[in-house]
Amino acid sequence: MIGRILSMTDRNRKPRWRAARRQALRSRGVRPPNQLDAWCVEVPYKELTAEMKQWLEERMIPGLGSLLTRVWLKPRDARHLMKGTIKTLTVVRTECRRCELCARPLVADEAAARRRLIESDMNGREKPCGPRCAEEAQSGVWRKLIRSQYRAPRLVA
Ligand SMILES: [Zn+2]
Repeated sequence: MIGRILSMTDRNRKPRWRAARRQALRSRGVRPPNQLDAWCVEVPYKELTAEMKQWLEERMIPGLGSLLTRVWLKPRDARHLMKGTIKTLTVVRTECRRCELCARPLVADEAAARRRLIESDMNGREKPCGPRCAEEAQSGVWRKLIRSQYRAPRLVA
């Protein structure tokens, strides 16, 4: 099942179409945004070994509210996990992006909306991501969270 999902992903890639789109954006003076993805992987608690917990803690994406049994990972790390020994993984793939101003992580619809804003407006990166963007950019709450999570991961399962 998981193998089928992955092969669909690979088939859906259209590098030439993407390259043309990026070129069109550049010609309008817009720096094309990279499309970033976050995969939410659900791991059955019974199958979590101490070694795997540590591996997950080191790789979960900061600021996205991971639990040990439900971890936000970069696609590369999620793929690695899917090749491993856990039999019953649930994987949800979404787009992911950090606000350029406050560093808040945006996922799914919010990330896609931000990407479309950046694609349509050459000043899109300087626009707030939401009502609390300016306040949170000022306090640095998201940047601090990212740093602290990289330094000392703490998870509650
Ligand atoms: Zn923001």
